Amino acid sequence: MTIPLSRPPVDDEIKRAVLAAIDSRQYILGPECRQLEAEFAGYVGASHAVLTSSGTAALWMTLKALGVKAGDEVLVPAHTAFPTVEAICFTEATPVFLDVDDSYTLDPAEAAAKITPRTVGMIPVHLYGQPVNVTAVQELASRYGLWLLEDCCQSHGAAWQGKKVGSFGRAGAFSFYPSKNLTVMGDGGIIVTNDDEVAARCRRLRDHGRLNKDVHAEVGFNLRFNEIQAAVGRVLLRRLDAMNERRRQLAARYGERLAGLPAGLPVERSGAHHVFHLYVIRTDQRDALARFLRERGIQTGIHYPVPCHRQPAVDSLNAPSLPRTERIVREILTLPLSAGHTEEEIDQVAAAVREFFAA
Ligand SMILES: *Cc1c(COP(=O)(O)O)cnc(C)c1O
Repeated sequence: MTIPLSRPPVDDEIKRAVLAAIDSRQYILGPECRQLEAEFAGYVGASHAVLTSSGTAALWMTLKALGVKAGDEVLVPAHTAFPTVEAICFTEATPVFLDVDDSYTLDPAEAAAKITPRTVGMIPVHLYGQPVNVTAVQELASRYGLWLLEDCCQSHGAAWQGKKVGSFGRAGAFSFYPSKNLTVMGDGGIIVTNDDEVAARCRRLRDHGRLNKDVHAEVGFNLRFNEIQAAVGRVLLRRLDAMNERRRQLAARYGERLAGLPAGLPVERSGAHHVFHLYVIRTDQRDALARFLRERGIQTGIHYPVPCHRQPAVDSLNAPSLPRTERIVREILTLPLSAGHTEEEIDQVAAAVREFFAA
């Protein structure tokens, strides 16, 4: 039996919600979507939430709503999923890449050094489920008059000093991709904000820039969401805290079983509530360990092997080198973890990792 990297939830309660949405004969932006938006906004502690077709769409819509345009510079960590950067490129602004700190998130000191008169904002990414140092990032943003758009695509339910991520910046963007902490049986995303104008503009952008049925105030796109998936999201949002708690317990179990090995284990930053979207370890024997685990039926991942500033798609930016990012991408390895994994599976993976280092 293989142990998968992630196992999304499927059960009768979810299936019943899907069937009910099918029977409603309303498929796009109907009552399930409106209720999920209200419930998600309430969960994060924001006044608005706007559903859309993916996390990438959520990031792009928000940047567009913030007025980001060609010539603007946006600070972004190089160590993130490429969509974070792609959304910036899609607005024709320039991504300015930042190196990582010890917790795999952006280094606020380096961000300060890279601010120029063209800098308009920053996208801190709460990577792997761990919040960035929100206090440092907020201080920087207010000192230089920058907006913050939190990329929360890996951190649904994570918190900084007791407050949920997504509620600190001008807006927060989330993804519901099937491996994420909150899923909808397909693609999906949502933004949260306390800014009435950003919310209104995102609602417009996701539906062809429509003011009403017949009038288009600007050019948007079709980035709408659907009732069947919103129904799934509502069921799973009610379980999100329990699923995150489960991830934390399994991560702690790895921590106990892998202690003392010559591998770097994840550390929860002081002030942070980490929701372990991914359990990432570090070793200079990464490739050999991945091979060893694969031979034993254990899936692993690398998030991410090619840092964003080295992607061929952004070659023309001639981004300067980021030594810490370039080093860690050769050493990181993601072990299986999701709310759907069993203790036995975690123990089996941990035992195999120990066996590798004992050899
Ligand atoms: C998943 C992810 C995205 C993109 O979300 P999609 O729903 O796949 O478009 C963006 N940023 C980060 C950090 C992600 O993990």
